[in-house]
Amino acid sequence: MPHILTLNAGSSSIKFALFEAGSLNERVRGQIEAIGTKPHLSARIANAEKTETDLDAAEVSDHAAALAAILALMEDRFSGADVKAVGHRIVHGGPDYGSPVIIDEDCLANLEKLIPLAPLHQPHNLSGVRAAQAAFPDATQVACFDTAFHRQHPWVNDTYALPLELYEEGIRRYGFHGLSYEYVTRALRQLAPMHAAGRVVVSHLGNGASMCAIQGGQSVGSTMGFTALDGLPMGTRCGQLDPGVVLYLMAEKGLTAAEIENLLYKQSGLKGLSGLSNDMRALEEAGTIEARRAIDYFVYRIRRELGAMVAILSGLDALVFCGGIGENAWRIRERVCQDFGWLGLELDESQNRAGETIISSQRSRVRVFIIRTNEELMIASHAAEKAQEAIASAAAA
Ligand code: ADP
Repeated sequence: MPHILTLNAGSSSIKFALFEAGSLNERVRGQIEAIGTKPHLSARIANAEKTETDLDAAEVSDHAAALAAILALMEDRFSGADVKAVGHRIVHGGPDYGSPVIIDEDCLANLEKLIPLAPLHQPHNLSGVRAAQAAFPDATQVACFDTAFHRQHPWVNDTYALPLELYEEGIRRYGFHGLSYEYVTRALRQLAPMHAAGRVVVSHLGNGASMCAIQGGQSVGSTMGFTALDGLPMGTRCGQLDPGVVLYLMAEKGLTAAEIENLLYKQSGLKGLSGLSNDMRALEEAGTIEARRAIDYFVYRIRRELGAMVAILSGLDALVFCGGIGENAWRIRERVCQDFGWLGLELDESQNRAGETIISSQRSRVRVFIIRTNEELMIASHAAEKAQEAIASAAAA
Protein backbone atom coordinates (compact mmCIF):
# COMPACT_ATOMS: atom_id res chain seq x y z
CA MET A 1 0.00 0.00 0.00
CA PRO A 2 1.36 3.52 -0.81
CA HIS A 3 2.64 5.43 2.19
CA ILE A 4 4.10 8.82 3.08
CA LEU A 5 7.05 9.01 5.44
CA THR A 6 7.84 12.21 7.33
CA LEU A 7 11.25 13.07 8.75
CA ASN A 8 12.14 15.83 11.14
CA ALA A 9 15.87 15.68 11.77
CA GLY A 10 17.20 17.75 14.68
CA SER A 11 20.74 18.10 15.97
CA SER A 12 20.70 14.80 17.85
CA SER A 13 17.32 13.32 17.04
CA ILE A 14 15.16 12.22 14.15
CA LYS A 15 11.38 12.28 14.55
CA PHE A 16 9.47 10.22 12.01
CA ALA A 17 5.95 9.20 11.12
CA LEU A 18 4.37 6.97 8.53
CA PHE A 19 0.96 7.70 7.02
CA GLU A 20 -1.22 5.86 4.50
CA ALA A 21 -0.99 7.92 1.32
CA GLY A 22 -4.68 8.48 0.54
CA SER A 23 -6.38 8.74 3.92
CA LEU A 24 -3.34 10.13 5.79
CA ASN A 25 -4.16 7.68 8.56
CA GLU A 26 -1.18 7.53 10.87
CA ARG A 27 0.46 4.10 11.14
CA VAL A 28 3.43 4.92 13.34
CA ARG A 29 5.12 7.91 14.93
CA GLY A 30 8.33 7.93 16.86
CA GLN A 31 11.80 9.26 17.30
CA ILE A 32 15.39 8.32 17.83
CA GLU A 33 17.01 10.58 20.39
CA ALA A 34 20.63 11.05 21.47
CA ILE A 35 22.09 9.95 18.14
CA GLY A 36 25.81 9.31 18.58
CA THR A 37 25.72 9.23 22.39
CA LYS A 38 22.95 7.08 23.96
CA PRO A 39 20.62 6.41 21.04
CA HIS A 40 17.12 5.44 22.04
CA LEU A 41 14.20 4.61 19.79
CA SER A 42 10.62 5.13 20.87
CA ALA A 43 7.64 4.60 18.60
CA ARG A 44 3.88 4.45 18.92
CA ILE A 45 2.34 2.13 16.40
CA ALA A 46 -1.38 2.71 15.73
CA ASN A 47 -3.52 0.45 17.95
CA ALA A 48 -0.46 -0.99 19.70
CA GLU A 49 1.67 -0.35 22.73
CA LYS A 50 4.60 2.06 22.65
CA THR A 51 7.89 0.44 21.59
CA GLU A 52 11.05 1.56 23.41
CA THR A 53 14.53 0.27 22.54
CA ASP A 54 18.01 1.37 23.50
CA LEU A 55 20.18 1.20 20.40
CA ASP A 56 23.86 0.42 20.05
CA ALA A 57 25.74 3.76 20.26
CA ALA A 58 28.52 2.54 17.99
CA GLU A 59 26.02 1.47 15.34
CA VAL A 60 23.82 4.57 15.53
CA SER A 61 26.59 7.13 15.38
CA ASP A 62 25.06 9.48 12.80
CA HIS A 63 21.83 10.48 11.08
CA ALA A 64 22.24 7.98 8.24
CA ALA A 65 22.58 5.15 10.76
CA ALA A 66 19.57 6.44 12.69
CA LEU A 67 17.52 6.48 9.50
CA ALA A 68 18.65 2.90 8.83
CA ALA A 69 17.36 1.94 12.30
CA ILE A 70 14.02 3.61 11.54
CA LEU A 71 13.81 1.73 8.24
CA ALA A 72 14.62 -1.54 9.98
CA LEU A 73 11.70 -0.93 12.36
CA MET A 74 9.40 -0.21 9.43
CA GLU A 75 10.62 -3.27 7.52
CA ASP A 76 9.96 -5.34 10.62
CA ARG A 77 6.46 -3.96 11.32
CA PHE A 78 5.26 -2.59 7.96
CA SER A 79 7.00 -4.66 5.35
CA GLY A 80 4.27 -3.95 2.76
CA ALA A 81 4.60 -0.17 3.10
CA ASP A 82 5.52 1.29 -0.25
CA VAL A 83 6.98 4.75 0.47
CA LYS A 84 5.87 7.02 -2.40
CA ALA A 85 6.96 10.30 -0.86
CA VAL A 86 9.15 11.51 1.97
CA GLY A 87 8.23 14.85 3.54
CA HIS A 88 11.10 16.66 5.28
CA ARG A 89 10.82 19.40 7.85
CA ILE A 90 13.36 21.99 6.71
CA VAL A 91 13.87 24.76 9.21
CA HIS A 92 15.01 27.52 6.85
CA GLY A 93 13.65 28.26 3.40
CA GLY A 94 15.26 31.72 3.16
CA PRO A 95 13.55 34.50 1.22
CA ASP A 96 12.71 32.38 -1.82
CA TYR A 97 10.83 29.33 -0.56
CA GLY A 98 7.33 30.35 0.47
CA SER A 99 5.70 26.94 0.05
CA PRO A 100 6.67 23.24 -0.04
CA VAL A 101 8.78 22.10 -3.00
CA ILE A 102 9.97 18.87 -4.57
CA ILE A 103 13.67 18.55 -3.78
CA ASP A 104 16.06 18.32 -6.71
CA GLU A 105 19.81 18.96 -6.86
CA ASP A 106 19.37 22.74 -7.42
CA CYS A 107 17.02 23.00 -4.48
CA LEU A 108 19.39 21.05 -2.26
CA ALA A 109 22.25 23.37 -3.26
CA ASN A 110 20.10 26.43 -2.43
CA LEU A 111 19.17 24.99 0.95
CA GLU A 112 22.80 24.27 1.73
CA LYS A 113 23.56 27.98 1.26
CA LEU A 114 21.13 28.69 4.12
CA ILE A 115 23.09 26.60 6.65
CA PRO A 116 24.68 29.68 8.29
CA LEU A 117 21.17 31.00 9.00
CA ALA A 118 20.21 27.88 10.99
CA PRO A 119 23.50 26.23 11.90
CA LEU A 120 22.04 23.86 14.48
CA HIS A 121 19.13 22.60 12.41
CA GLN A 122 19.63 22.99 8.66
CA PRO A 123 22.66 20.67 8.26
CA HIS A 124 20.77 17.85 9.99
CA ASN A 125 17.61 18.50 7.99
CA LEU A 126 19.67 18.18 4.81
CA SER A 127 21.52 15.08 5.93
CA GLY A 128 18.06 13.57 6.53
CA VAL A 129 17.21 14.41 2.91
CA ARG A 130 20.37 12.73 1.61
CA ALA A 131 19.82 9.64 3.72
CA ALA A 132 16.21 9.39 2.52
CA GLN A 133 17.24 9.87 -1.13
CA ALA A 134 19.59 6.92 -0.76
CA ALA A 135 17.01 4.77 1.04
CA PHE A 136 14.06 5.64 -1.24
CA PRO A 137 15.51 6.57 -4.64
CA ASP A 138 12.11 6.37 -6.35
CA ALA A 139 10.15 8.38 -3.79
CA THR A 140 9.30 12.08 -4.23
CA GLN A 141 11.33 14.03 -1.66
CA VAL A 142 9.47 17.12 -0.49
CA ALA A 143 10.84 20.03 1.55
CA CYS A 144 8.36 21.64 3.96
CA PHE A 145 9.69 24.87 5.43
CA ASP A 146 9.26 26.22 8.94
CA THR A 147 9.66 29.73 7.55
CA ALA A 148 7.08 29.41 4.73
CA PHE A 149 3.99 30.32 6.79
CA HIS A 150 5.53 33.72 7.54
CA ARG A 151 6.73 34.72 4.07
CA GLN A 152 3.78 37.09 3.49
CA HIS A 153 4.64 39.26 6.49
CA PRO A 154 4.07 42.96 5.95
CA TRP A 155 7.42 44.64 5.27
CA VAL A 156 7.53 46.36 8.67
CA ASN A 157 7.41 42.94 10.27
CA ASP A 158 9.90 41.43 7.87
CA THR A 159 12.76 43.86 8.31
CA TYR A 160 15.33 45.09 10.80
CA ALA A 161 16.42 48.73 10.83
CA LEU A 162 19.75 47.93 9.18
CA PRO A 163 21.03 49.33 5.86
CA LEU A 164 18.60 48.21 3.19
CA GLU A 165 21.20 46.21 1.26
CA LEU A 166 21.37 43.78 4.17
CA TYR A 167 17.63 43.18 3.84
CA GLU A 168 18.13 42.55 0.13
CA GLU A 169 20.88 40.05 1.05
CA GLY A 170 18.39 38.12 3.14
CA ILE A 171 18.94 39.48 6.64
CA ARG A 172 15.26 39.51 7.52
CA ARG A 173 12.83 38.54 10.22
CA TYR A 174 11.75 35.13 8.94
CA GLY A 175 9.90 33.46 11.80
CA PHE A 176 9.78 29.69 12.41
CA HIS A 177 7.43 26.93 13.70
CA GLY A 178 5.44 27.59 10.52
CA LEU A 179 4.27 23.99 10.11
CA SER A 180 2.84 24.05 13.61
CA TYR A 181 1.11 27.38 12.99
CA GLU A 182 -0.28 26.13 9.70
CA TYR A 183 -1.70 23.02 11.37
CA VAL A 184 -3.16 25.00 14.26
CA THR A 185 -4.71 27.56 11.90
CA ARG A 186 -6.43 24.77 9.96
CA ALA A 187 -7.60 23.06 13.14
CA LEU A 188 -8.95 26.35 14.50
CA ARG A 189 -10.86 26.88 11.25
CA GLN A 190 -12.65 23.58 11.90
CA LEU A 191 -13.23 24.28 15.58
CA ALA A 192 -14.21 27.94 15.47
CA PRO A 193 -14.34 29.37 11.94
CA MET A 194 -15.41 32.87 13.01
CA HIS A 195 -12.52 33.16 15.43
CA ALA A 196 -10.07 31.68 12.92
CA ALA A 197 -11.04 34.37 10.44
CA GLY A 198 -10.28 37.09 12.98
CA ARG A 199 -7.33 38.14 15.13
CA VAL A 200 -5.47 35.21 16.61
CA VAL A 201 -2.29 34.73 18.62
CA VAL A 202 -0.82 31.23 18.71
CA SER A 203 1.76 30.41 21.39
CA HIS A 204 3.88 27.42 20.41
CA LEU A 205 5.59 26.63 23.71
CA GLY A 206 7.89 23.63 23.51
CA ASN A 207 11.64 23.24 23.87
CA GLY A 208 11.73 25.78 21.09
CA ALA A 209 9.12 28.48 21.71
CA SER A 210 7.60 31.25 19.66
CA MET A 211 4.38 33.17 19.18
CA CYS A 212 2.64 34.15 15.99
CA ALA A 213 0.13 36.92 15.32
CA ILE A 214 -2.36 35.80 12.69
CA GLN A 215 -4.98 37.90 10.92
CA GLY A 216 -7.52 36.28 8.64
CA GLY A 217 -5.46 33.07 8.63
CA GLN A 218 -2.23 34.86 7.58
CA SER A 219 0.85 35.34 9.74
CA VAL A 220 1.48 39.03 10.31
CA GLY A 221 4.14 38.76 13.01
CA SER A 222 6.36 36.29 14.79
CA THR A 223 8.53 36.52 17.88
CA MET A 224 11.31 34.65 16.08
CA GLY A 225 13.34 36.50 13.49
CA PHE A 226 16.41 35.90 11.35
CA THR A 227 17.21 32.78 13.34
CA ALA A 228 15.29 30.62 15.80
CA LEU A 229 17.05 32.41 18.69
CA ASP A 230 14.91 35.52 18.98
CA GLY A 231 11.76 36.21 20.96
CA LEU A 232 10.77 34.03 23.91
CA PRO A 233 13.34 32.38 26.15
CA MET A 234 13.39 28.65 25.34
CA GLY A 235 14.71 25.42 26.83
CA THR A 236 18.33 26.37 26.11
CA ARG A 237 18.03 29.43 23.80
CA CYS A 238 18.15 32.99 25.10
CA GLY A 239 15.29 34.64 23.19
CA GLN A 240 15.30 38.43 22.80
CA LEU A 241 18.74 39.92 23.41
CA ASP A 242 20.32 43.32 22.94
CA PRO A 243 22.90 42.81 20.14
CA GLY A 244 25.20 44.92 22.30
CA VAL A 245 25.57 41.90 24.58
CA VAL A 246 27.10 39.91 21.71
CA LEU A 247 29.50 42.77 20.93
CA TYR A 248 30.50 42.93 24.58
CA LEU A 249 31.10 39.18 24.76
CA MET A 250 33.34 39.42 21.69
CA ALA A 251 35.21 42.62 22.46
CA GLU A 252 35.56 42.48 26.23
CA LYS A 253 35.46 38.79 27.03
CA GLY A 254 37.16 37.57 23.86
CA LEU A 255 34.57 34.89 23.09
CA THR A 256 34.71 33.41 19.61
CA ALA A 257 31.70 33.12 17.31
CA ALA A 258 31.50 29.40 18.08
CA GLU A 259 31.57 30.03 21.83
CA ILE A 260 28.85 32.66 21.57
CA GLU A 261 26.77 30.34 19.38
CA ASN A 262 27.07 27.61 22.01
CA LEU A 263 26.17 30.06 24.79
CA LEU A 264 23.10 31.50 23.07
CA TYR A 265 21.73 28.26 21.61
CA LYS A 266 22.65 25.67 24.21
CA GLN A 267 23.46 27.22 27.59
CA SER A 268 20.82 29.94 27.94
CA GLY A 269 17.03 30.13 28.32
CA LEU A 270 15.43 28.06 31.09
CA LYS A 271 18.59 26.01 31.51
CA GLY A 272 20.87 29.03 31.83
CA LEU A 273 18.60 30.92 34.20
CA SER A 274 17.78 27.97 36.45
CA GLY A 275 21.25 26.42 36.37
CA LEU A 276 19.28 23.20 36.51
CA SER A 277 17.38 22.05 33.46
CA ASN A 278 15.86 23.03 30.14
CA ASP A 279 12.79 20.97 30.99
CA MET A 280 9.71 22.80 32.28
CA ARG A 281 8.47 19.77 34.24
CA ALA A 282 11.78 19.53 36.08
CA LEU A 283 11.68 23.26 36.91
CA GLU A 284 8.10 23.10 38.18
CA GLU A 285 9.05 20.17 40.41
CA ALA A 286 12.35 21.66 41.60
CA GLY A 287 10.83 24.84 43.05
CA THR A 288 14.24 26.42 43.78
CA ILE A 289 14.49 30.21 43.63
CA GLU A 290 16.42 30.00 40.36
CA ALA A 291 13.89 27.60 38.82
CA ARG A 292 11.02 29.87 39.89
CA ARG A 293 12.74 32.90 38.43
CA ALA A 294 13.38 31.11 35.14
CA ILE A 295 9.65 30.34 34.93
CA ASP A 296 8.81 33.93 35.95
CA TYR A 297 10.91 35.25 33.07
CA PHE A 298 9.36 32.77 30.60
CA VAL A 299 5.84 33.86 31.60
CA TYR A 300 6.78 37.55 31.62
CA ARG A 301 8.11 37.41 28.06
CA ILE A 302 5.04 35.59 26.79
CA ARG A 303 2.76 38.20 28.38
CA ARG A 304 4.86 41.02 26.98
CA GLU A 305 4.81 39.57 23.45
CA LEU A 306 1.07 38.93 23.74
CA GLY A 307 0.54 42.59 24.56
CA ALA A 308 2.64 43.63 21.56
CA MET A 309 0.74 41.28 19.26
CA VAL A 310 -2.62 42.56 20.50
CA ALA A 311 -1.39 46.04 19.57
CA ILE A 312 -0.47 45.11 15.99
CA LEU A 313 -3.68 43.09 15.57
CA SER A 314 -5.79 45.94 17.08
CA GLY A 315 -7.41 43.47 19.47
CA LEU A 316 -7.74 39.75 19.94
CA ASP A 317 -10.42 37.15 19.15
CA ALA A 318 -8.59 33.94 20.02
CA LEU A 319 -5.49 32.81 21.88
CA VAL A 320 -4.19 29.29 21.21
CA PHE A 321 -1.69 27.30 23.26
CA CYS A 322 0.25 24.44 21.68
CA GLY A 323 3.60 22.62 22.06
CA GLY A 324 4.66 20.46 25.03
CA ILE A 325 4.39 23.31 27.56
CA GLY A 326 1.40 25.02 25.93
CA GLU A 327 -0.57 21.77 25.78
CA ASN A 328 0.33 20.36 29.19
CA ALA A 329 1.45 23.01 31.67
CA TRP A 330 -1.79 24.45 33.11
CA ARG A 331 0.03 26.63 35.63
CA ILE A 332 1.92 28.38 32.86
CA ARG A 333 -1.30 28.96 30.89
CA GLU A 334 -2.98 30.32 34.02
CA ARG A 335 -0.15 32.72 34.73
CA VAL A 336 0.08 33.90 31.12
CA CYS A 337 -3.64 34.73 31.05
CA GLN A 338 -3.80 36.29 34.51
CA ASP A 339 -4.77 39.99 34.60
CA PHE A 340 -5.73 40.14 30.93
CA GLY A 341 -9.30 40.96 32.05
CA TRP A 342 -8.84 44.43 30.51
CA LEU A 343 -8.66 42.66 27.13
CA GLY A 344 -11.81 40.65 27.81
CA LEU A 345 -9.75 37.49 28.37
CA GLU A 346 -10.69 35.23 31.25
CA LEU A 347 -9.87 31.57 31.77
CA ASP A 348 -12.19 28.92 33.14
CA GLU A 349 -9.98 27.66 35.93
CA SER A 350 -11.21 24.07 35.97
CA GLN A 351 -11.28 23.68 32.19
CA ASN A 352 -7.74 24.99 32.09
CA ARG A 353 -6.60 22.54 34.75
CA ALA A 354 -8.34 19.70 32.94
CA GLY A 355 -6.65 20.67 29.66
CA GLU A 356 -9.92 21.01 27.71
CA THR A 357 -9.93 22.28 24.12
CA ILE A 358 -11.68 25.52 25.10
CA ILE A 359 -10.33 26.92 28.35
CA SER A 360 -11.80 30.43 28.40
CA SER A 361 -14.82 31.19 30.60
CA GLN A 362 -18.33 31.63 29.17
CA ARG A 363 -18.13 35.41 29.56
CA SER A 364 -14.60 35.78 28.14
CA ARG A 365 -14.71 37.86 24.94
CA VAL A 366 -11.43 36.29 23.82
CA ARG A 367 -11.72 32.53 23.30
CA VAL A 368 -8.74 30.56 24.55
CA PHE A 369 -7.94 27.15 23.07
CA ILE A 370 -5.52 24.28 23.54
CA ILE A 371 -4.79 22.63 20.20
CA ARG A 372 -2.47 19.64 20.05
CA THR A 373 -0.17 20.53 17.21
CA ASN A 374 0.67 17.96 14.54
CA GLU A 375 3.58 19.08 12.38
CA GLU A 376 4.00 15.55 11.03
CA LEU A 377 0.48 15.47 9.60
CA MET A 378 1.06 18.87 7.99
CA ILE A 379 4.28 17.61 6.40
CA ALA A 380 2.58 14.42 5.21
CA SER A 381 -0.27 16.36 3.67
CA HIS A 382 2.15 18.67 1.76
CA ALA A 383 4.24 15.69 0.65
CA ALA A 384 1.12 13.85 -0.59
CA GLU A 385 0.01 16.92 -2.56
CA LYS A 386 3.44 17.36 -4.16
CA ALA A 387 3.74 13.67 -5.01
CA GLN A 388 0.34 13.90 -6.72
CA GLU A 389 1.52 16.94 -8.69
CA ALA A 390 4.67 15.06 -9.73
CA ILE A 391 2.58 12.13 -11.01
CA ALA A 392 0.25 14.50 -12.88
CA SER A 393 3.09 16.40 -14.55
CA ALA A 394 4.89 13.16 -15.50
CA ALA A 395 1.65 11.91 -17.08
CA ALA A 396 1.22 15.18 -18.99
CA ALA A 397 4.80 15.15 -20.30
P1 ADP B 1 10.09 20.08 21.21
O1 ADP B 1 10.16 21.56 20.94
O2 ADP B 1 11.43 19.46 21.45
O3 ADP B 1 9.18 19.30 20.27
P2 ADP B 1 7.95 19.69 23.12
O4 ADP B 1 6.93 20.43 22.31
O5 ADP B 1 7.76 18.22 23.29
O6 ADP B 1 9.42 19.98 22.65
O7 ADP B 1 7.97 20.36 24.58
C1 ADP B 1 8.85 19.95 25.56
C2 ADP B 1 8.58 20.79 26.81
O8 ADP B 1 7.25 20.53 27.27
C3 ADP B 1 9.52 20.44 27.95
O9 ADP B 1 9.96 21.63 28.61
C4 ADP B 1 8.60 19.67 28.89
O10 ADP B 1 9.00 19.76 30.24
C5 ADP B 1 7.29 20.38 28.68
N1 ADP B 1 6.17 19.58 29.19
C6 ADP B 1 5.69 18.42 28.70
N2 ADP B 1 4.69 17.96 29.49
C7 ADP B 1 4.56 18.85 30.53
C8 ADP B 1 3.73 18.94 31.68
N3 ADP B 1 2.81 18.02 31.95
N4 ADP B 1 3.88 20.01 32.50
C9 ADP B 1 4.83 20.94 32.25
N5 ADP B 1 5.63 20.91 31.18
C10 ADP B 1 5.50 19.90 30.33
